[in-house]
Amino acid sequence: MDEDLSCQQGATITGTSDMLFSFGVIADIQYADLEDGYDYLEVRQRYYRHSLQHLQNAIKDWNGEKVRPQFVLQLGDIIDGFNAQYSTSEKALSRVMKKFKKLSAPVHHIWGNHELYNFSRSYLEKSVLNSKYLQDQTLLSNFAGDQTTTEASAEFYYAYHFCPKTKFRFILLDTYDLSILGRDPSTKKYQDSLCLLREKNPNKNLNSPVGLTDYQFVQFNGGFSQDQLDWVNEVLAYADKHQERVVIAGHIPIHPHSSNNVCLAWNYEEALAVIHSHPSVVCYLAGHLHVGGYCLDSHGVHHITLEGIIETPPDSNAFGTVFVYDDRMVLKGRGRVPDLVMHYRKDHSAASCNDTVEITVAE
Ligand SMILES: [Zn+2]
Repeated sequence: MDEDLSCQQGATITGTSDMLFSFGVIADIQYADLEDGYDYLEVRQRYYRHSLQHLQNAIKDWNGEKVRPQFVLQLGDIIDGFNAQYSTSEKALSRVMKKFKKLSAPVHHIWGNHELYNFSRSYLEKSVLNSKYLQDQTLLSNFAGDQTTTEASAEFYYAYHFCPKTKFRFILLDTYDLSILGRDPSTKKYQDSLCLLREKNPNKNLNSPVGLTDYQFVQFNGGFSQDQLDWVNEVLAYADKHQERVVIAGHIPIHPHSSNNVCLAWNYEEALAVIHSHPSVVCYLAGHLHVGGYCLDSHGVHHITLEGIIETPPDSNAFGTVFVYDDRMVLKGRGRVPDLVMHYRKDHSAASCNDTVEITVAE
């Protein structure tokens, strides 16, 4: 089929009108009311103040689409960690949320490291960044790990799933379930995470990957508890059984070919093993790595790491709309985000895949 990616509107993006629904994606807004700065390597410019304008432009675009996105995935790092230093966390968050209020679609919020630099997990749980009320209510008691966070202990992970259309399920993962960010030091998860981090990273500065065997074991990353992996496994088994297509989203990438070797979830291999054992998964969406990345893995799962708003010059942008069809999803990128056609894996009924094709276009 002739894919016309130059078209602006979803209904015409492929020259057909069989689109089922669409959704928006945006990552690493990292707003702060600060002058422009640079990343930690002093290489890439960060536009702290202008990120709010980028968000406003993205919302205007989504609201103006012929077929409006059904929802938007905010892939984490909504405000910058600098806000914590200047005690402007709440003010910055309220400015960003004021922009999101103009969006005529619900927003699913993921928590990244910068949420946890600014707020504790217990604060986030009660905040506007807890979008768990949008979770699939019809299957609430089906999975052992479906938690109502209000009654959960301090060890809770922030993850849920929802079904925007029959046969399509989205799972939001907590890539900082194992982490020393945002968790109370008295909790077991904090202590276990600190032990694991120190075991893998002997550096005094735990944010430094220098000399490591597994470069991803730095403080600004995190990982998945066994409980969360078991829960994902259960949800995916349900999805397989009901022939659903599943999109998974988390702040940190989980495939080395869609990232560099540092910006990966601590136990990304365990997450990949769970995902690869279920034919329902078609795509994993992440942020965190501001330069972006993409790969189609050996099991036919597309891994998209979205370009970050924060490192996007004022004359560009970095967001997208994903148009969902029966046989594919089409990402229409804006600014730094490239267009992408993602065909679903062919064998939807079998978990095994002998293909070893790896296509990497990650930076
Ligand atoms: Zn991040």
